[in-house]
Amino acid sequence: MRALPLAVASVYSPKLGERLVPALRHGAMRKTTFVIVALMLTLPLLAAAVTVTTPEGPSEVFARGELFDVLALLRLTGADVEFAAAAGSYSAGTAEHQVQFTPGGALAVVDGRLNPLPGPIRLVDGHVVAAQATVAALLAPFGWTMRVAAGAPELIRAGGGERIEVTVVRAPAGTSLVVRGTKQRPRVTASQGAVALQFVAPVTLGRPVVPEAELLGAELHDTTLTLRLAPGVEVASSYPLDDPPRFVVRLGTATPAAPVAAKGTGSLVVLDPGHGGDDQGAKGPANELEKDITVAVARATAAHLQAAGVTARLTRDGDEAVSLTDRTALANRLQASVFVSIHANASVARGAHGAETYYMSADASDPQAAQAAERENASAPADTVQLILWDLAHVANLNNSARLARSVQEKLNALQGIRDRGIRQAPFVVLTGATMPSTLVEVGFLSNAEEAARLAAHDVQDQIAAALAEGIIDFLRAPVPEASPTPAGTPTP
Ligand SMILES: [Zn+2]
Repeated sequence: MRALPLAVASVYSPKLGERLVPALRHGAMRKTTFVIVALMLTLPLLAAAVTVTTPEGPSEVFARGELFDVLALLRLTGADVEFAAAAGSYSAGTAEHQVQFTPGGALAVVDGRLNPLPGPIRLVDGHVVAAQATVAALLAPFGWTMRVAAGAPELIRAGGGERIEVTVVRAPAGTSLVVRGTKQRPRVTASQGAVALQFVAPVTLGRPVVPEAELLGAELHDTTLTLRLAPGVEVASSYPLDDPPRFVVRLGTATPAAPVAAKGTGSLVVLDPGHGGDDQGAKGPANELEKDITVAVARATAAHLQAAGVTARLTRDGDEAVSLTDRTALANRLQASVFVSIHANASVARGAHGAETYYMSADASDPQAAQAAERENASAPADTVQLILWDLAHVANLNNSARLARSVQEKLNALQGIRDRGIRQAPFVVLTGATMPSTLVEVGFLSNAEEAARLAAHDVQDQIAAALAEGIIDFLRAPVPEASPTPAGTPTP
């Protein structure tokens, strides 16, 4: 409804506006009321379409006040737009990029990465609409933007300039990221987990960046190309080369071993050690830190999986901070078959003990589950509700997530000799972005002194890891009761 008065101002003369405002303010005569009602009735028709300027010529799209038809604008840029009924979300794609979004939300998954949008996407008269800034954010991955001058929208190709390609080149001397197609010498800024190349003149990505062991992905915003590096990979040096022109980023030699390809299964498991960096997670009476236990268990689980021929990757392999959204983003980019977030619990009930396995739900199954989610969500950005709404669109994975959780919990019950402890549900933010079956495991209670001491012991960590790996493998090998909407498998190098 907020859009209506604005539309009045833009469609009708300021003079009429001047007359209307005092009339409204002073209680209004019948005649004025009639005029307003008539305006409100005719406005939807008047504002139903707007002419958009595009490089190929003008085109009419649906608009309502400041809101524009998102799907029509995406199609005008050449993107294919489809509705996935199972997920309740729209998907816009080209050969290079994919953007998924759900009306009612203010989030988009861009190339597998969950991004907040400047504003919500709405449904008006059966049209998917959004304000200019949100439209621009949805168009950006495809190299387009939309500006609105004097109420007239215009679609513009954002990129231009050199068409660059990024590849990983392995040589006996070391591994490099090679940016082909540029004569520029960008400013290189290395940070933890990423290197940013700031070009002077515009560039566009001529080809999608294929994730590899060292390079997780790339994002181009304006003239800055951000290359996301695998944990442990560092930038050693950078320099331009001629003939053909290219820019080389040499990577550090402390490169982790490339994952062993899972022969036959094609499954990739992403293990997510909870917390890290300043975020220590729960703490035991003898200073046992959740962040240390989770990474130790995750590493051991990865080793057990690899030994069984299943490829495993960690969202962090050291003590670095990783945002909750980046954790599932890695799994999405790698098109992982399974995402398992590993944690250790804390409870005010001193006697609480044993492992618990959760899967995502907007509503917690019990007060203790709610408490666990609240604690694990502490490092999440403020807009938790939006994330939860988003996840509900992924109901298609819920059955498989429940199956995965059950498979893991069964093994943990057997290990810990616990009478059947069932799986639980809670709104864990870290699981909301996952587009594959996902679960969160609390391997035990750090608030319980005895259990905390056990969880810190390497042999116990390894036993838990073996149980986790078995549970995951059982899930992967079991016949799938229903088709998953997400294609599973490792990316081709
Ligand atoms: Zn935790």
